[in-house]
Amino acid sequence: MAERYYYSIASGSSGNCGLYMAEGTAILIDAGVSLRRITTALGALGLGLDSLSAVLLTHEHIDHVKGLPMLLKKSRVPVFASRGTAEALEQKEPLCADRLNVFDSGARFWVRDVDVASFATPHDAAESVGYCFAQGGSRFGFATDLGFVPRDAAELLRGCETVVLESNHDPHMLQAGPYPYPLKMRVAGPSGHLSNPDCAVFAADLVKNGARTIILAHLSEKNNMPALALQQTRAALRGLPACEVIAAPRGCMEQPVPLGEEETLCSLSG
Ligand SMILES: [Zn+2]
Ligand SMILES: [Zn+2]
Repeated sequence: MAERYYYSIASGSSGNCGLYMAEGTAILIDAGVSLRRITTALGALGLGLDSLSAVLLTHEHIDHVKGLPMLLKKSRVPVFASRGTAEALEQKEPLCADRLNVFDSGARFWVRDVDVASFATPHDAAESVGYCFAQGGSRFGFATDLGFVPRDAAELLRGCETVVLESNHDPHMLQAGPYPYPLKMRVAGPSGHLSNPDCAVFAADLVKNGARTIILAHLSEKNNMPALALQQTRAALRGLPACEVIAAPRGCMEQPVPLGEEETLCSLSG
């Protein structure tokens, strides 16, 4: 099977779940919507729960784990979580206790032929992480729910051809918006969420280091608009090598985003 794609099943504060698929290895990142929504989305791609090689969690917030208890009931798929995330989940959900593969943030591990590197993200959760996957010669990065991009994360994400990157809010919309003041401070703070301008600055860094597709993710419903997020990052990429910028919708993507064929990358460079 040579299909290589990323498919966002849900993105935003109402739920997050994405599928990485390459060379027959299928990795679900977060399970923040109902199991029914996950199985329906997988079904549309011709997959079932038993097609999954692993589920990787970023952190214990409900918009990332809502479907997890049911998923653990219905499937034996290995689930990976950082130690802090696992401990926070086990307090709420006894089912998780002996089912999670626990790692320390920063650890690397394998899911079949995918070399997974985790990195700590600054966020108001127990031990939130992002991921970088290396498989064959290609790399894929995933970073949402972070107040800023720490140096370790940036180093891992540079060189990824495809990166899912948070573009959570427009600072002016957040300021003028309906959130109570303490929540505004939390979202905009260093343990909150990445804003459109911060996303745009880092996206330019990524493109200078080889990124060819950037998927904007975890867009706020109240404090952002897809057109605004897209415009801000695209403007920052002007004059740089071509890079496709896509905004992940709140629900399922219309179609999977190809990760690019390795042969194509080789023939282009040769
Ligand atoms: Zn979230
Ligand atoms: Zn969160």
